[in-house]
Amino acid sequence: MTPAPSSKPRQITVVGAGIIGLTTAVELQRCGHDVTVVAEDVFEPTVSTVAGAVWFPFQVGAADQARVRSWALTTRSWMNDLAVRHPHAGIDLLEGYEIVAGDQAPWWVEGMGADRVPAPVTGAPMAWRFHAPRAQPALFLRYLVSQLTRPIVRRKVSGLDELPGDLVVNCTGLGARTLLGDTQLQALFGQVLITECGHAALDVTVTDHRDPESLFYVIPRRDELVLGGIARAVEGVIVPPAEPAITERVLAHAARLGIKVGAVKAVRVGLRPYRATIRLEREIEQPRILHNYGHGGSGFTLCHGAALSVADLVDRA
Ligand SMILES: Cc1cc2nc3c(=O)[nH]c(=O)nc-3n(C[C@H](O)[C@H](O)[C@H](O)COP(=O)(O)OP(=O)(O)OC[C@H]3O[C@@H](n4cnc5c(N)ncnc54)[C@H](O)[C@@H]3O)c2cc1C
Repeated sequence: MTPAPSSKPRQITVVGAGIIGLTTAVELQRCGHDVTVVAEDVFEPTVSTVAGAVWFPFQVGAADQARVRSWALTTRSWMNDLAVRHPHAGIDLLEGYEIVAGDQAPWWVEGMGADRVPAPVTGAPMAWRFHAPRAQPALFLRYLVSQLTRPIVRRKVSGLDELPGDLVVNCTGLGARTLLGDTQLQALFGQVLITECGHAALDVTVTDHRDPESLFYVIPRRDELVLGGIARAVEGVIVPPAEPAITERVLAHAARLGIKVGAVKAVRVGLRPYRATIRLEREIEQPRILHNYGHGGSGFTLCHGAALSVADLVDRA
């Protein structure tokens, strides 16, 4: 699955230092290219720092399911491997459960080794169980930055064609809406609570999808829990404030499922960069420019598979 080092080393500028830009840059560098990352923000306040960052195909490429499944599968193997070989990267192997209404399998399940088992929470009969590696963004994003040979250049880019390099890879997430005027890119509001671990299981992540109006998930980290959630389309790219009503609903949902969470430490919000078809392609009219953005609620779930596809496009450029 992993391509051999490129026979044509290039000078490449990667724009964006969220999970997509960093994974893409690290993979291109591994292929032997000379890579420079340019980004307005690194770590905070990118949406990548807000994510629960568990492997779970969610709110992603409705028109793109074959590619999504393939990238998800590839990324899960890579995350599994990192969890074992580089524990300091912040990835741990959890057991995932998705509770859905009725017996029908979720769209992403085929070929993912998921099975239907009794749910590990109260008030829900059955769930789909799967392997769910989880990244801790504060550790994982830093781990990826530490793999870069060149320092990140901090600046806002107003045109991709002004950037140096043989090739430019655009990984600006929702930023592509302003940078390129891509109106197919839709912001999906998300809000999470960070709580003390309480008495919740730390090796199990659960998503309750039975009621689309009342999404719930719990994602344990090494030292805290991430609880959500919501995925609501909003206009524009300005992150709205947190809503106390969502916080209350999520805490009540956890209590109903018998998940004993600790005190709330923080509430965080972010906008997922959703596109019905993830834009991963080379521009026809400007072949020096490639795109890799629009991964919705699944940037961590797809990052490495998508990065390998970019490396493949670069090799053919
Ligand atoms: C509440 C919530 C929970 C989530 N949970 C999960 C989860 O459990 N699992 C999962 O897989 N995904 C999850 N996601 C989705 C995930 O966060 C996103 O898919 C992912 O972070 C997108 O990464 P990105 O690198 O494309 O964008 P970003 O993280 O937004 O990074 C974009 C980068 O581009 C830079 N940039 C933008 N415009 C410019 C410009 N003009 N010039 C220079 N730099 C620019 C930014 O500064 C930044 O460095 C969640 C999202 C939310 C909101």
